[in-house]
Amino acid sequence: AGDATIIDGKGFAADLRSGVAQQVQALKDQHGITPGLAVVLVGENPASQVYVRSKAKKTVEVGMESFHHHLDANTSEHELLDLVQQLNDDERVHGILVQLPLPDHIDEDKVIHTIDPQKDVDGFHLMNVGRLATGDLDNAMVPCTPLGCLMLLKDQLGDLSGKKAVVAGRSNIVGKPMAHLLLANNCTTEIVHSRTRDIAAECRDADILVVAVGKTRMVRGDWIKPGATVIDVGINRLDPEPGEEKGKLVGDVAFDEAKQVAGAITPVPGGVGPMTIAVLLANTVTATCRQHNVAEPA
Ligand code: NDP
Repeated sequence: AGDATIIDGKGFAADLRSGVAQQVQALKDQHGITPGLAVVLVGENPASQVYVRSKAKKTVEVGMESFHHHLDANTSEHELLDLVQQLNDDERVHGILVQLPLPDHIDEDKVIHTIDPQKDVDGFHLMNVGRLATGDLDNAMVPCTPLGCLMLLKDQLGDLSGKKAVVAGRSNIVGKPMAHLLLANNCTTEIVHSRTRDIAAECRDADILVVAVGKTRMVRGDWIKPGATVIDVGINRLDPEPGEEKGKLVGDVAFDEAKQVAGAITPVPGGVGPMTIAVLLANTVTATCRQHNVAEPA
């Protein structure tokens, strides 16, 4: 005990991005296609601005074209829908990401459902949700964070068939699509949430435990089956210690306890976090190839 493998999401994400850069180069060389990703930000949410800047930088780094649209906080819904429609029609744009949350006067669902499902690299459009839920992974665009978690799990464990997987959290962005992915990969899959009767006991049964609850260190060491693989999606900021400017980032799993019990575990930061943008870029390549009806470069 005490020697869990620490899953290097940061390193995996860097490798994934260099693979994407090679695919982008191959698409240019072999087909004259440059994948393009458009990111739309409305308003001045500071966290959103950081994400969007980081996405744009990494998009350019892998050789894709980055289109950035920063709209004023009081942009009307109509104007935003017009922009999305323009991006749908723009052949240089293969992926469209509208950074959430949107200001209150704009209906998020309406915006998401205006995005062409083939360009919906976040995988939030009902068409893509439905494709994932029906197991049509050849045509679905899959949400980036859970897809990144799946990649780490397969890298760690190989074939997932028959494993007992428990997903803590049932959000549409992480928990539910994660459960569908695990099911599609032949896990015996369970979702636990805030109304689950004995959540610790359910988790303790899991060979694979994916935690996305947004609660600092909720999952304790004794919730984990010895040898289990634990993926911690949570990103929580602690209050700053005296002398610190910002509090440190921790996950939804009590890492120091969990690593005594688990077989492998993702750290926070440096685990799932860096995977999300890398998968976004990979999804953009996938979307590009589907739109041009060319095979995805190896
Ligand atoms: P949501 O708040 O949308 O969903 C949280 C889920 O956890 C809900 O289903 C909720 O249950 C459940 N939950 C909350 N409290 C408890 C509890 N005490 N016991 C059991 N279940 C509970 O969060 P997200 O899914 O969007 O995100 C989860 C975490 O992942 C956050 O920390 C977020 O910051 C992080 N995150 C990280 C990303 C990344 O690494 N790139 C991307 C996205 C999210 P119920 O439905 O019953 O209320």
